[in-house]
Amino acid sequence: MLYYCIMKKEILCMMPYELEDMLRAYGEKAYKAKQIFAWLHRGATFDEMSDISKKTRQFLSENTTLVYPEIVQKQVSKLDGTVKYLFSMYDGQLIESVVMRYKHGNSICISSQAGCRMGCRFCASTLGGKARDLSSGEILSQIIVAQKDIGERIDNVVMMGIGEPLDNYDNVIRFLELVGAPGGLNIGYRHISLSTCGLVDRIYRLAEEEYPITLSISLHATRDEERDEIMPINKKWGIDELLSACRAYFDKTGRRISFEYTLIHGKNDTPAHAKRLASLLLKYFDKAPFHVNLIPVNTVAESGFTAGNEQSIKRFTEILEKSGVNATRRRRLGSDIDASCGQLRHKNSNK
Ligand code: SAH
Repeated sequence: MLYYCIMKKEILCMMPYELEDMLRAYGEKAYKAKQIFAWLHRGATFDEMSDISKKTRQFLSENTTLVYPEIVQKQVSKLDGTVKYLFSMYDGQLIESVVMRYKHGNSICISSQAGCRMGCRFCASTLGGKARDLSSGEILSQIIVAQKDIGERIDNVVMMGIGEPLDNYDNVIRFLELVGAPGGLNIGYRHISLSTCGLVDRIYRLAEEEYPITLSISLHATRDEERDEIMPINKKWGIDELLSACRAYFDKTGRRISFEYTLIHGKNDTPAHAKRLASLLLKYFDKAPFHVNLIPVNTVAESGFTAGNEQSIKRFTEILEKSGVNATRRRRLGSDIDASCGQLRHKNSNK
């Protein structure tokens, strides 16, 4: 007896040309692939695909899997309309996405892994380690479901949710292909940011892919001994290697790098730190454009870190600006709804 073990493909991970190949092999017209791709990116089930024949829908449901994340919790900030979703994936893994409303459109912050293994000391996402990578379709479907839920187009994507995107490299690259493909969500690469704690080998690799996305670097310290203490990845690649990779990324892509600097009271937020941060970045970038985002740390109980007072944050920003460094203090959105990365997943896994 012949025994076939066929792994069903996740249809949300498929590009239009792959859907075409599959349909052609089945005996359906290839142009139907475009319609199916559009339906999928609008969050439709097979049954809802009204311009696809019943037989073809049957074929799709027998040969592929289609699971959208389920919204298990949704919190809407009364202060600024920020929406935070706690999603359950097909296997019960919990992840988070946050939709932020700006004058220039809607932005979504998405997760790339269920959990994280990078171990940054201030971050709630890494407390339980990494459970698994998300597939490209699972990364994508956070946008699909959120867009459908708010009933408005999502214009910008930041990969700053749970997980380290460059630690899930292949799935993230495929996600970039899917999200930019015509006929689907079709979000331009200039509207996408990817944030990393500094996987230097992958930064060089990403530069070679030449997507015009914005690279965001979680820097948070100016000296190796201080960064080693809060971000274990720094023991593998120190600040010099990281900033050299950033400079190479800029030289290759021409895209301005964005640096995230989380202000932790008494650890990295003194005037001396501000001066060192300015001279460090100017050393590698000189006249090349870059930007610093300052984020007062959100307290995660386990870390014991707190943000400084308003005055020290203001002083830090001013020192950077006086030194010729472009810096903005990140607006705190959703502060009433645990909107910081990993807080909800962590809370719910503790229950
Ligand atoms: N792994 C990626 C993306 C996820 S973290 C990275 O490290 O960049 C997204 C951003 O939120 C990072 O800059 C991270 O350092 C920051 N962050 C994490 N926990 C935080 C907290 N408690 N308060 C403020 N920022 C935090």
